[in-house]
Amino acid sequence: SFHRIPKEEITQLEHLGRGTRTNIYAGTLSCREEEEDGGNVQYSTREMRVVLKILDSAHRDISLPFFETASMMRQVCHKHIVLLHGVCVRNLENIMVEEVVEFGALDLFMHRKSEHLSTAWKFLVAKQLASALSYLEDKNLVHGNVCTKNILLARQGLDGDSGPFIKLSDPGVPITVLSREERVERIPWIAPECMDDTKNLSIATDKWGFGTTLWSVCYNGELPLKDRSLAEKERFYEAHCKMTPPVCCKELAELMQQCMNYNPPERPFFRAIMRDINRLQEQNPDIVYEDQPRAEID
Ligand code: ATP
Ligand code: MG
Repeated sequence: SFHRIPKEEITQLEHLGRGTRTNIYAGTLSCREEEEDGGNVQYSTREMRVVLKILDSAHRDISLPFFETASMMRQVCHKHIVLLHGVCVRNLENIMVEEVVEFGALDLFMHRKSEHLSTAWKFLVAKQLASALSYLEDKNLVHGNVCTKNILLARQGLDGDSGPFIKLSDPGVPITVLSREERVERIPWIAPECMDDTKNLSIATDKWGFGTTLWSVCYNGELPLKDRSLAEKERFYEAHCKMTPPVCCKELAELMQQCMNYNPPERPFFRAIMRDINRLQEQNPDIVYEDQPRAEID
């Protein structure tokens, strides 16, 4: 179930980056708007900036799983999750047409601005991500690729009192189509139970990814285990190793450890994670932004 966009309605502009079997471009989508004017219906078209995520035509064999991702994204509507306008089939290419999120991926942003990131900033990112994942948990939907590059920034929040505003991006091609080597590369983002069998993918998998994301956010976007070889990464999971807890934010470190539990059923519910984050903010009012709406604090 997804909205099909005719190929004539999109224009492809500059290349933004490469993903897993995808290329990402800036683009436009023309939208027909109906206007009523004294009984006459008038049509006008408006060009909207969008992002085009194009599955490489060499990977047409995985168009079905690619559309499964699109179908999952069409079922969600949340302020901290990227909006999917629809999908487009253009000759041999399959395309997801998505909302533009102004400041791009969180990992790159954090690298650039590492000196300016406060504890309050990191707490708000954690809280917004937990709210998006709690929404998915309530709807019984699995994301499957929670990591800092799949969190996009709509507002930087480095000045003023309102803080950052994130949007969780789509998970891209499902991990069920990845090779074992590609899954090993994703250690420690991918949950350990998905290494031997991707059928173990569940909402608990996203809790592990959330934990790894907290680690990376605490360390200003550093990539976990980035200098390890594939064999070392595999050994890390086999030996049930743990990431070094960040010292900068003790409280987030504890949450991170609860989420990165090798036994999936022991990982906390996102609702409980939200409660913990709220409690931590109540105990430390200095890490709460002034303009944060009351509803988000409650
Ligand atoms: P994966 O499935 O591995 O996540 P992907 O196709 O989603 O692959 P990414 O590596 O996540 O590709 O994204 C590539 C780059 O495209 C990002 O670094 C980001 O800068 C940009 N990008 C992706 N989506 C958006 C968006 N909605 N708005 C703005 N920039 C985006
Ligand atoms: Mg992505």
